[in-house]
Amino acid sequence: MPPDANLLILGGGCAGLSLGMRLVDHASPAKRTVILEARTEYTNDRTWCFWRLAPHRFDRLVAHSWSSVAIRTKQRSVTVDCRLTPYQMLEAAPFYAEAQDRIDRSKHVDLVLGASVDDTPRRVAGMWQVETDTGRLTARHIVDTRPVRPPRASDAMLWQSFYGQEIECAASVFDANTVGLMDFAEARSDDVLFHYVLPLSPCRALIETTVFGPRPLVPADLSSVQAAAVEKLVRGNAFSVRRAESGLLPMGMTTYFTVPGPDYSRAGLMSGAARASSGYAFQRIQRWADAAAASIGRGGPPIGHQSDPALQRGMDHLFLRVVRDHPDRAPDLFIRMFGNADPARVIRFLSDQGTLADCAVIGSTLPLQLFIGEMLKSMVAAPGAFREAA
Ligand SMILES: Cc1cc2nc3c(=O)[nH]c(=O)nc-3n(C[C@H](O)[C@H](O)[C@H](O)COP(=O)(O)OP(=O)(O)OC[C@H]3O[C@@H](n4cnc5c(N)ncnc54)[C@H](O)[C@@H]3O)c2cc1C
Repeated sequence: MPPDANLLILGGGCAGLSLGMRLVDHASPAKRTVILEARTEYTNDRTWCFWRLAPHRFDRLVAHSWSSVAIRTKQRSVTVDCRLTPYQMLEAAPFYAEAQDRIDRSKHVDLVLGASVDDTPRRVAGMWQVETDTGRLTARHIVDTRPVRPPRASDAMLWQSFYGQEIECAASVFDANTVGLMDFAEARSDDVLFHYVLPLSPCRALIETTVFGPRPLVPADLSSVQAAAVEKLVRGNAFSVRRAESGLLPMGMTTYFTVPGPDYSRAGLMSGAARASSGYAFQRIQRWADAAAASIGRGGPPIGHQSDPALQRGMDHLFLRVVRDHPDRAPDLFIRMFGNADPARVIRFLSDQGTLADCAVIGSTLPLQLFIGEMLKSMVAAPGAFREAA
């Protein structure tokens, strides 16, 4: 019997919908794709930010664009002019709406909401079998974007935990032109804490408390620091909270989640989408979706995220080791990078577009002794550092 679909995408979040949208355009109409999503409806649950290095398919949906970002420590403040590569913000709601609209109009890509797939699909007679609340589906290929399991501290070198609130203030208290990319209140010995402020108008801003640390945190762990940061920024003026968002991003995965068989790939945040040194994943997911759709369009299998170039991977992991072992030094490292190198180089590097020269210049801004010491330590500790999990 022919399968119900050529491809089943498990999870219709950023990665699943991004691939689904590409397949509306690129896959052969004879090849059906079904996206199974547990949610029954989408909400404006997050915002994605990134530097715009080139025109992109979501230009029309961008809610805000800034031409400068600031990094501040107690000792120093650096404001980076990024007019040529503005820092942009995309809200989740219009992204989900655009994806739903495009998929609704397609005859060969379907999105099923309220379809929770909680088991590992089974391989039967050369096809994948998936059980859902609404029945069984079979397919030749699977792209699984669900989180494999709740994160464990040991799954990543560091975790980026954040809790943010969109604040409407009665007075004009925000500098609407400049993003507060990293505002380090103080150097800490166990983790790195900073505030991230996206000004949406002089009276409105998304204010986030972010921690880079060895353990995944929940919003309750951050709420008192967040409340203090908001109070400080609104300077005694009345304010209301319009919405909140929180997240947990792996920085340098140490667990590799295997797949249960052939024609099965994993994608998304916990499967290679997150950039090790920043946790950012949106643009990487878009690049993956382009590559996976192109492979399917050529009649091949969907592919997972490709590993990063060796130099970028090496630099990211060394940087994370330094931050993990010397969190009190982290604010200085970030400010050196942005303040002492041409910011265009740093932005390219953080956006996965760094050249060899960019890497060399960024490396030269960092304290050599600290990094050499960490490199020697990592050479001794390296065996068995990466674990596999099903
Ligand atoms: C609040 C927040 C802000 C972020 N900001 C940025 C940013 O500014 N820049 C950036 O680059 N990255 C950012 N990220 C990181 C990353 O881009 C996002 O996490 C992105 O949504 C990851 O896409 P994904 O598809 O892997 O996961 P998700 O978008 O979370 O999608 C996974 C989907 O799987 C579904 N699912 C789960 N279990 C099942 C199941 N059993 N059956 C069916 N479906 C299931 C979920 O409902 C969900 O829709 C942010 C993340 C968060 C949480």
